[in-house]
Amino acid sequence: MLLYQVSSNMVTFSSGFLDQIRQRISLADVIGRYTTVQKRGSNLIACCPFHKEKSPSFYIYEEDGHYHCYGCKAHGDIFSFLMEKRGFSFPEVVEDLAGQAGLQIPQNGGDSEEDRRAKAERGLFYEIMEKTAQFYEKQLLSNGGSSAKKYTDNRGITLPTQKTFRLGYAPRGNVLHHHLSKLGYKTPALQKLGLVQESKDRPGDFYDYFRDRLMFPIWDKRGRVIAFGGRILGTGHPKYINSPETPLFHKGDVIYGYHLAKQAKAQNKLTPLICSEGYMDVVALHQGGFQGAVAPNGTSITENQLDLLWKLDHEPIICLDGDKAGEEAALRALKVALPFLEAGKTLRFVSLPSGEDPDSLLRAGKKELL
Ligand SMILES: [Zn+2]
Repeated sequence: MLLYQVSSNMVTFSSGFLDQIRQRISLADVIGRYTTVQKRGSNLIACCPFHKEKSPSFYIYEEDGHYHCYGCKAHGDIFSFLMEKRGFSFPEVVEDLAGQAGLQIPQNGGDSEEDRRAKAERGLFYEIMEKTAQFYEKQLLSNGGSSAKKYTDNRGITLPTQKTFRLGYAPRGNVLHHHLSKLGYKTPALQKLGLVQESKDRPGDFYDYFRDRLMFPIWDKRGRVIAFGGRILGTGHPKYINSPETPLFHKGDVIYGYHLAKQAKAQNKLTPLICSEGYMDVVALHQGGFQGAVAPNGTSITENQLDLLWKLDHEPIICLDGDKAGEEAALRALKVALPFLEAGKTLRFVSLPSGEDPDSLLRAGKKELL
């Protein structure tokens, strides 16, 4: 994303205000005033408004709000587009778009003291989650992580895959709490992020939320760690636990592996987008060469998650286990999707042989079956 730090006539615009404009005004609509925008697959393309061409090489990426011409390398966002096309200054473009969006231009730049504090807190939260992911990764490579290492070895997970997915190990006891405290992070922040929990019996005592589990960091669309899923080692219940809802993590809005699938799709448009059931399925599919593998976070798929899928691929594949739970999950997904299905927004379902999941199939060497 382009960052503007332009001020003119004593007016500066906060990034929050510029984001509001981006959210309210579609880049494709603005560009569509200058050239014909067409949909091809999941892409929006057009003949470039900056150079003469007969077949479109101008791509519009609505999701993160930028355009790119593969012919003349024109590149930018809604603001730079209008500055270029209309010869406006940046503040003029902002004023113009704010007017169209029905937004008042904030007098003070839009960031109140409270906004600034909230932003700083979010920054701290991302930092803590990243440090936690690093801590778990290190633990998996240490002696203490041998039980988790044995599990990943048994499942045939290679070291490169382990690194791609940043798998980790949450030790027993309250090792994470001690570690993060030593780094200077305060307990209330860790509690807000669902990393530690207060003891019900002994108020004021905190314990690590994830203990003795194989850890899967969960990322946002940009690849920042916002939560974790933890798998039990050996038998016991529940098999998986996820971070609770936190200021960073709303599980119904997040898809596991999304940023990796996005990267893969950007590199190769033909990569199928496969939505499977769980973390291990995604890891196994990825390792098996299906780099567009993703999963909801242990829930049935939500409307927001479907929207995310459709942004990457107009025909994602829902791949569910060959058991009763898998069938029921497919039905639920279909029910959520039904009101939204239209041309360019469909779903494909793959049902695996009874008793199989993507991981078991791949390990049995039945890749071609998928
Ligand atoms: Zn061009």
